Amino acid sequence: MLYQRSSQLFAEAEKVIPGGVNSPVRAFKSVGGTPIFVKKAKGAYLYDEDGNRLIDYINSWGPMILGHAYEPVVNAVIEKAKLGTSFGMPTEIETKIAELAVSMVPNIDKIRFVNSGTEACMSAIRLARGFTSREKIIKFKGCYHGHSDSFLISAGSGAVTFGSPNSPGVTQGTAKDTLLAIYNDLANVRAILEANKEEVAAIIVEPVAGNMGCVPPKKGFLEGLRALCDEFGALLIFDEVMTGFRLARGGAQELFKVNADLVTFGKVIGGGLPVGAFAGRAEIMNYLAPVGPVYQAGTLSGNPLAMAAGLTMLQEIEKDLELFSRLEEKTAYLEKGLRRVLEANHVDHTINRVGSMISVFFDKREVVDFDTAGYGHNDTFNKFFHGLLAEGVYIAPSSYETWFITDALTYEDLDYTINAVNKIFA
Ligand code: PLP
Repeated sequence: MLYQRSSQLFAEAEKVIPGGVNSPVRAFKSVGGTPIFVKKAKGAYLYDEDGNRLIDYINSWGPMILGHAYEPVVNAVIEKAKLGTSFGMPTEIETKIAELAVSMVPNIDKIRFVNSGTEACMSAIRLARGFTSREKIIKFKGCYHGHSDSFLISAGSGAVTFGSPNSPGVTQGTAKDTLLAIYNDLANVRAILEANKEEVAAIIVEPVAGNMGCVPPKKGFLEGLRALCDEFGALLIFDEVMTGFRLARGGAQELFKVNADLVTFGKVIGGGLPVGAFAGRAEIMNYLAPVGPVYQAGTLSGNPLAMAAGLTMLQEIEKDLELFSRLEEKTAYLEKGLRRVLEANHVDHTINRVGSMISVFFDKREVVDFDTAGYGHNDTFNKFFHGLLAEGVYIAPSSYETWFITDALTYEDLDYTINAVNKIFA
């Protein structure tokens, strides 16, 4: 495949945009090579500026669960745009999408819309702090909750001590209020809570981690977090930016039958437009301004185009009773096929999957947390990534990412992908 025009465009972009990209994961920094510039996409396929067609396993990092340029969503946005693109005043469609989201997701009474997953998580912890009058939060190493200061902490000197910032610009003052725990390790979480009695406002967790590759919660982990939060008076926040409206209509709360106190959304809820949201029981959500004292706002929050895309997406998901079983079947088929060809070629691997979230780690040891996810960060991954790209299959350019399966993928696409993997390692 030729990437001449992508290379040219990247060189031009680098002159005026830091690193040539508006979000670091888009660069090919860890795998080498030049990022591909996309021109358009339809269904399961991306079409780049050089005219190559790629089968897409990233799907805008999750939102395009029904495929790219999904007609009902596109039409809803076009029709809405004709009526004006932003008012900064209440609109009926905001209530419509809120009603639908509240009816689909268990255990939430109210929801507020923002513009990204980052904003949703940032606002949720402010609300949790305001509601509990406590300042610290617990986050898990390897979980990503957006790029706001409190979350850019991954390495501390031991879980019970203060975290240290891992991005310059995050102050020590902010870092000390973020306590780091080990994913899937309840004893570790308990120890942190014991050492910080009556100080922890919330535990925020990706109920299925997707930002260290896909790492499922061990049996009892989410239930254990619920019990610990109840015991220590902290709120449980499920970051469902990836899992919401993807693993089930009601997200991870429905799938695992565990209730969180606050839930954050992004990605699918916006149908491909910039949308995030956070939600919870009325007693907590009513702590938000203008009813309550916790301030949170946004010029473009509830933007009509974004709400039109999101509402249409949720309506499509709600009415398609077979969607989640189809996604499960397709992704299970892919998992089985990948296992078969990797085993046949004697490639050490571990595949983690929950529903339509899947990742391949090139190591045979079990991956259950951030440290074990690191085993798969190796040269085999780079060979895999570039091998697939050469065959016209696009996966995330990092071993710490999850693949997001779309309903637009056909079994022919899946077979093609499995055969491509076979070719790479044969
Ligand atoms: N939370 C999770 C679990 C995410 O995966 C992401 C982004 O990938 C975010 C939060 C941040 O969302 P956004 O990139 O929309 O700000």
